[in-house]
Amino acid sequence: MKQNGIYDMLGQLQASPNVYFLSEGMDFDSNQFNPQTKTITWNSRVGFYTDNLYEMSPVEVLNHEIDHALEYDTNPIQQKTYGGIKDPNYSNLEEKRVITGSEQETAQKLGKLKPGEVTRDNHGGSPYETTSPISTEPKWSCTPSKE
Ligand SMILES: [Zn+2]
Repeated sequence: MKQNGIYDMLGQLQASPNVYFLSEGMDFDSNQFNPQTKTITWNSRVGFYTDNLYEMSPVEVLNHEIDHALEYDTNPIQQKTYGGIKDPNYSNLEEKRVITGSEQETAQKLGKLKPGEVTRDNHGGSPYETTSPISTEPKWSCTPSKE
């Protein structure tokens, strides 16, 4: 993350006097931040095809969850309030804040967005297994049989 210039939020979280935990997720849908346990659960081999056909690498998904944790750390009341306000496209206002904010910044810093492009404009997409935490290359490819 340091090498790719996307370490800011993790650095801020590490500088917090509060302790946060990073737990290895085992499922395709295990990526999340749990404020009760101050735990980010992250599957380091799961990327995300968004509804805008953008490919998020696992480390970008991690940065998304780190933003939720950082908001909880610095602005817990708003994090909870926003999380409880539904949004028709982004599930809730906390997701909208992260997706329209740091998720776009992270993608831009990685040089993956052309001007005017966004990773997605909703909270949707499909998880898939990647070859590494920093790759968007699918681990499995489907080749049609010749029969
Ligand atoms: Zn989120």
